[in-house]
Amino acid sequence: MKKVRPRSRPTGPGTGSGNRLAPFAARAESGRGRQHAEPSHAYRSEFQRDRDRVIHSGGFRRLVYKTQVFINHEGDLYRTRLTHSIEVAQIARTVARALHLNEELIEAIALAHDLGHPPFGHAGEDALDACMKPWGGFEHNLQSLRVVDELEDRYLAFPGLNLCFETREGILKHCSKRNARRLGVVGERFLLRQQPGLEAQVVNLADEIAYNNHDVDDGLRSGLLTEEALCAVPLFRRHHVPLLEANPRASRRALIHETIRGMINEVVSDLVETTGNNIAARGPESIDEVRALKHPLVALSPAVSKAHLGLKRFLHRQLYRHERVLAVTSRAQNMLKELFACYMNSPAAMPAEHATRAFQWEAERGEPGRALAIADYVAGMTDRYAYAEYRRLIDAKAKTQGL
Ligand code: MG
Repeated sequence: MKKVRPRSRPTGPGTGSGNRLAPFAARAESGRGRQHAEPSHAYRSEFQRDRDRVIHSGGFRRLVYKTQVFINHEGDLYRTRLTHSIEVAQIARTVARALHLNEELIEAIALAHDLGHPPFGHAGEDALDACMKPWGGFEHNLQSLRVVDELEDRYLAFPGLNLCFETREGILKHCSKRNARRLGVVGERFLLRQQPGLEAQVVNLADEIAYNNHDVDDGLRSGLLTEEALCAVPLFRRHHVPLLEANPRASRRALIHETIRGMINEVVSDLVETTGNNIAARGPESIDEVRALKHPLVALSPAVSKAHLGLKRFLHRQLYRHERVLAVTSRAQNMLKELFACYMNSPAAMPAEHATRAFQWEAERGEPGRALAIADYVAGMTDRYAYAEYRRLIDAKAKTQGL
């Protein structure tokens, strides 16, 4: 098998980022275009415009007050959905440069990938999914696409942000067959068992690498994890122990950061190398040849994949299911469920724009229409806004009733 080593960065025209594009990279000029035709821009590429649209969206700004693992008010140093999205973009852009993929597209997908996340992280998603069960459930990934396709209200000529197909393809990471049928062209690959472009595949793995590593940092900062316990994870131990032995008097924080830096570097370097080898072995000549393959080309080697999975499993057991995290998240889940029920009983309790939409969609589609408008509203909330709404609608009512 011929090895493709990441080359030193060549210069030349192509992406606008100084990175020459490989033949299998996504190209703005020969992409599948936008749902609503628009004239091109004088000096920005289509994927650059997509990234800019995401950054200027209301959904993107709200990510700053949405939980990753720790509820936003627990401390200023924990990751939020916004800092997480930026870290995903950073890792994915590094890979894009090394493999000559489209860095602008990668950045657009990375910054948009969590736009549909409801407040309170995965706990919030589970709660909203339970509320929406009678009407098809709720899934944050699908909601991210819904935000950029329909919910952002910033253009006169079309709803949403009218992003390019390649960006939308990257945002939609997974999808049930039922939803895929409903989504048209962007859902087709889930029915045909095809792959998205390499840029989408890179963001998908960069997302996992980012959260596994930053959750180690946040977990240690919170005191819910310790270095001693983390040494049960081979990936952590092999970076941490030599550092600790060589620097017995170093500050704890610097040692933790050096360890995490080493882990990210190992996994990302392996991703670049393994993916480079996979590309060389299959030799795709275009993004469509990448899409037609049965398996993704972006991957970790079996050894590093196993080590990374070991870290992920540890975090599931020791952090995400820690009783202190669960206590906060189960309160948050109950809050979202009560809020949802309150709006279902009385859509007028929502701001006028959302209430009007709920009544209108209900008139058109019945109860599912009302539920969908409420799910959109609740999913758009930040953690602190959800708390404020809960106090306004439910705590205040309990008080007036003497409960
Ligand atoms: Mg993410």
